[in-house]
Amino acid sequence: MSTSMRLFIGGARGSSVVADPACRIYGGDTTALLLEHPDGGRILIDAGSGLRLVERRLAACPGAGDPAMLMTHYHLDHLLGFPSFSPIYRPGTQLRILGPAGVKSSPASIFGALMSRPFWPLELGELRADLQFEGLNPLANEEPLRINGFVIRWFPLAHPGGCLAYRISLTPDSPAVVIATDYEWDRAPPQAQAAFVTFCRTPAPPALLLMDGHYRQAELAQYRGWGHSSSEQVAAVARAVGAAQFLVTHHAPLADDVVLAARERELQAESPRGAWARQGTVYAVTSAAAGGA
Ligand SMILES: [Zn+2]
Ligand SMILES: [Zn+2]
Repeated sequence: MSTSMRLFIGGARGSSVVADPACRIYGGDTTALLLEHPDGGRILIDAGSGLRLVERRLAACPGAGDPAMLMTHYHLDHLLGFPSFSPIYRPGTQLRILGPAGVKSSPASIFGALMSRPFWPLELGELRADLQFEGLNPLANEEPLRINGFVIRWFPLAHPGGCLAYRISLTPDSPAVVIATDYEWDRAPPQAQAAFVTFCRTPAPPALLLMDGHYRQAELAQYRGWGHSSSEQVAAVARAVGAAQFLVTHHAPLADDVVLAARERELQAESPRGAWARQGTVYAVTSAAAGGA
């Protein structure tokens, strides 16, 4: 039996859903991830349209208890799967939802606004599940969170409106995954870049880094301030943090399978431990090398 955690990619498309047969391999659903503890605990990360696949996988592995959900931020591509997530309509579901809280907003107020008329026919208070919202202070993370058997730390990323990276492991010093979607590397000052590298490497380099590589390096000048990095930057950051393996995520909506496969081949010529995240794929998070499974 596996003793490592596993990362399931429910969706890795950036910005908007792409329902196109030309995007079957890497997938067209937006960000939704599932971390699976070998003992059965589950953590969902983000609630993009890929939540549909995450829900299917949760249904196939019953008896693991209620998962908790971590939000990186609240841009619509990371939220739009939530209203259709059927566990929230079931009495008996208990779901903890944690995400960054600001001065004027909290996860409760943001989900309350999403689940309200005229955007959706039911209000948050009319749902039959027991939802508990907890705001995280993006800047203060002295003590790691411990949820469903996972040890979780976070770090504020450069992105319009902010975004949190999460570093998650089974014990404080076991192989970790770092989730850093929606990150504009160039917009982070040098001290913040150095602090991110330290965050990833403490106490040891991560087994797996999943990072926003929406653009190509040549496009960055054109999209300064849009909130995303290039796949070349993902490879460089993966080297800097010493990640055993890395996955590029937040795929550009116009990049189909042919385009992404070509970019992946090009990247792997230089960085054989890198790949583009594929929707529907499970990755084992082990220190040796996180392999697709
Ligand atoms: Zn996004
Ligand atoms: Zn975003």
